[in-house]
Amino acid sequence: MRVLVINCGSSSFKYRLFEMETEATLAKGLVERIGAPGTTLKHQATGKDPYQAECKGSDHTAAMTAVLEVLTDPQWGVLKSVEEIAAVGHRIVHGGERFSRSVLVDEDVIQYIAALSELAPLHNPPHIMGIRACQRVLPGVPMAVVFDTAFHQEMPPEAFMYAIPYELYEKYGIRRYGFHGTSHKYVATRAAELMGRPLAELKIITCHLGNGSSVAAVKGGRSIDTSMGFTPLEGLVMGTRSGDIDPAVVPFLMNKEGLTAEQVINGLFNKQSGVLGVSGLSHDFRDLEDAAADPVKPHRRARLALEMFAYRLRKYIGAYFVAMGGLDALVFTAGIGENSYEMRARVCRGLECLGIILDGERNRVRGVEAEIGAPESRVRIFAIPTNEELLIARETADLIAGDSRAAASAAVRAKKTEF
Ligand code: AMP
Repeated sequence: MRVLVINCGSSSFKYRLFEMETEATLAKGLVERIGAPGTTLKHQATGKDPYQAECKGSDHTAAMTAVLEVLTDPQWGVLKSVEEIAAVGHRIVHGGERFSRSVLVDEDVIQYIAALSELAPLHNPPHIMGIRACQRVLPGVPMAVVFDTAFHQEMPPEAFMYAIPYELYEKYGIRRYGFHGTSHKYVATRAAELMGRPLAELKIITCHLGNGSSVAAVKGGRSIDTSMGFTPLEGLVMGTRSGDIDPAVVPFLMNKEGLTAEQVINGLFNKQSGVLGVSGLSHDFRDLEDAAADPVKPHRRARLALEMFAYRLRKYIGAYFVAMGGLDALVFTAGIGENSYEMRARVCRGLECLGIILDGERNRVRGVEAEIGAPESRVRIFAIPTNEELLIARETADLIAGDSRAAASAAVRAKKTEF
């Protein structure tokens, strides 16, 4: 079975085609600058040269058409016909309170995702454009939606509620939703496989550390708490986002700087804060690590930003250790978690009291799956490259299989009633 996974942004369209029997990537690519001059398609079929071309048309349907053309191109493609695509899986950022798992797409599901646009204005509307584009270009092909929020939907109320008047939760759905759920679920599942133990009996803390960062407490295969909240602004220090901050700073800054609430939240706290804001240098951890380690003139604020990032994460790890009543494994993933052994070491320094002891040598790896804890560490420690697309493909394939099983048994039932 071949499953096409799609991740649609307002101006970008990422895709990856999987062969599910082997879980191999057959091809992947990206359409960039949708809606602007110079829309380009970058494509790579496994084992072939990369291909790049200008894209005709300037909307998501044109992007999807270009993707199908290149996937079936004799030179650059991997398919003889689009009919080989058995299903499409869409990544959706916000699934609200209704979806605690992935679902097949129907009009009701689309309308619900559209209604959630108020909570995810940058993400859900382009996701809908992607779904509509597929409906136009691949009519009749089943589609599934896999939500970033779904994995966290089983958090208990004491973890997801904010201590504000309860009516505001009922009226507006103000609560912790959590994000990066697909990544947390993928790496927790993989850690259990590497440990050779059932996920259902493990307590795992997963640290997704990338441009956006979040940490989750995964107990018995369920996320019981996570650091991102109502929006992806809460929690850890990030590349350009402040993470946790006293909300009283918002009106204070509005008064002092003559800003609107929108400017404080979206301008300052989302785009100019985090390690960029503290260091004044860069949001990229490679730049910060280089600057902080400069043998002649170490960059003081770059170092402070890195220490703040590590300290905030350490506090969450301590909190989640207590929330789960212990810990079997600590997992690092995403751009920083997979690549920066310096940051992994910085985070683990001071966690020895919890039985978390990193092995200096084993930790010196980038971008590979590795066990990096010391032999005497009570908690096993892993670096695991995330693979959200594969999890989306798996869940899509499972839903399609479930649906055809359900259809087959419905057909059997219908036949029985005919007699
Ligand atoms: P992501 O959002 O998962 O793609 O992560 C992107 C971030 O990972 C970048 O902003 C970098 O800060 C960080 N990153 C990538 N490679 C490295 C590396 N070798 N060392 C430190 N940080 C890295």
